[in-house]
Amino acid sequence: MAQIIDGKGVAAQVRADVAKEVARLKERGVTPGLAVIVVGDDPASRIYVNNKKKACAEVGIYSEEHALAADTTLDELIALVRALNSRGDISGILCQLPLPNGLDDRAVIENIAPIKDVDAFHPANVGRIMLGDYHFLPCTPAGIMELLHHYGISAEGKECVVVGRSNIVGKPMSMLLLHENGTVTTCHSRTRDLKSVTARADILVAAVGKPKFITGDMVKDGAVVIDVGMDRDENGKLCGDVDFAAVEPKASYITPVPGGVGPMTIAMLLKNTVTAAKIQNMID
Ligand code: NAP
Repeated sequence: MAQIIDGKGVAAQVRADVAKEVARLKERGVTPGLAVIVVGDDPASRIYVNNKKKACAEVGIYSEEHALAADTTLDELIALVRALNSRGDISGILCQLPLPNGLDDRAVIENIAPIKDVDAFHPANVGRIMLGDYHFLPCTPAGIMELLHHYGISAEGKECVVVGRSNIVGKPMSMLLLHENGTVTTCHSRTRDLKSVTARADILVAAVGKPKFITGDMVKDGAVVIDVGMDRDENGKLCGDVDFAAVEPKASYITPVPGGVGPMTIAMLLKNTVTAAKIQNMID
């Protein structure tokens, strides 16, 4: 029987700490501010944006939403980003991705001032993560590291296997585990004999986007299993990349879906926004 990693509970603690930090900044005359840009009317994006606005309000971060029409041009989008870059009351900027209608995600990200890039997707921030000298970490991998620390799970010397190599989850996740002295293997769709690799893992992170992809026979007894997936099962019910029922009895720790990694992602966004405000206002 695994210990269930309570992402909801840990995220609540992170948010409480952020709220205290926001109150401290406000005493110094600084209110952290987050601008969220959303283009088009994709319902999933709208839910994510509303959740972010609500989370900001709960901890005292000012937030504003820039909801742009689906036919917005790249030039208009970049003009908005540059205007937000120059505003003192906006500490963090994020653009809900992917952008619709072939708008170039990278062109937009590269126009966000790196010090306001609270998603940590700008090449300057990605490079800093590689060097291990960073202001912000991408929210999902940062949230996972926070969970591991909270439960006293060290990556040092461990076999860490990350399944998935996306720029927002898999690659930075592998890098963070490496920084903490894990022996890291990153798997992807061309990995041969995936099961033989995942079965070596002391810490297994699944960021694939396929429901219940990690089955019981792919996991070593006693492994720590982190499920990043936000998928739908055959009945349309929210589930993860890990077959929880089959893997949980073998694991030592496991994150559930929902209630595992998901709540940590927004909590880390709030933390990054406060960090950005502190740096921009030269407050320790
Ligand atoms: P992504 O960009 O689609 O990347 C998926 C990765 O999985 C790719 O690297 C792909 O390999 C790999 N993959 C696909 N099929 C595979 C296979 N058969 N064997 C091994 N690897 C395989 O997805 P993502 O953005 O990283 O997201 C992954 C999941 O996490 C999704 O369910 C997403 O919804 C979820 N997510 C959750 C949160 C949260 O807050 N909880 C945040 C972000 C994402 P290739 O590179 O070779 O194609």
